[in-house]
Amino acid sequence: MEETPNKVLVITPHPDDADFWCSGTVAKWLGDGATVRYVLCTDGGKGTTDPNISSADLSKIREQEQADAVEALGVQELVLLHHPDGSLEDSDVFRRELVRQIRQVQPDVVLCPEPYRKNLAWHRDHRIAGQVALDAVFPCARDHLHFVELWRDEGLEPHKTPTILFWGTENADTKIDISGSLEIKFKAVAAHKSQMEGRNPKEIEDYVRQRAKVEEGGSGMEYIEEFRKVTFRV
Ligand SMILES: [Zn+2]
Repeated sequence: MEETPNKVLVITPHPDDADFWCSGTVAKWLGDGATVRYVLCTDGGKGTTDPNISSADLSKIREQEQADAVEALGVQELVLLHHPDGSLEDSDVFRRELVRQIRQVQPDVVLCPEPYRKNLAWHRDHRIAGQVALDAVFPCARDHLHFVELWRDEGLEPHKTPTILFWGTENADTKIDISGSLEIKFKAVAAHKSQMEGRNPKEIEDYVRQRAKVEEGGSGMEYIEEFRKVTFRV
């Protein structure tokens, strides 16, 4: 991605996924004037080892932490879909929700998880969110007769998204330089306090920095996020 997109849609299965995988890119593009909407698909109410917390209490904490991360980044819009953690399905219900988001935002790029990881374990919500996002972009958001009620009753025009960037991929082909936005990424990741397992801010910074560091020279980039890019004719 050499040019900054104007409109960006981020589809994140759980609180923290997007901030961990792509918030450096998001912060960089925001700094260049992009408009960004985050869509949080689930409530994050299952991922804990604490025997004393309920799913309802945990999801309140997790959704608030996502709101805090969005604020740290300066993302303009956060939409919560409130699906129970672990329960995303490749269904018309979920697909319609994502088509609605795409038609509302009319994005230049959608960021979401890689659906087709083979050899690395991947949460079912990641797999399914990526798959449904892909199908929502093409063909469903493109053709008005898919979920015709969105067009007829909500006045949402079809949209052709030119690019999807999948994070968490085994087949990265796109590197984005986040050296200038790494400090903001620290804050976005650190906002997910309940998922940090007691790590202090310095440990979080070291972890994020280590993950983003380019090991071998040549590209001229110091810190990156990596994606698999899929393009569509528009
Ligand atoms: Zn996740």
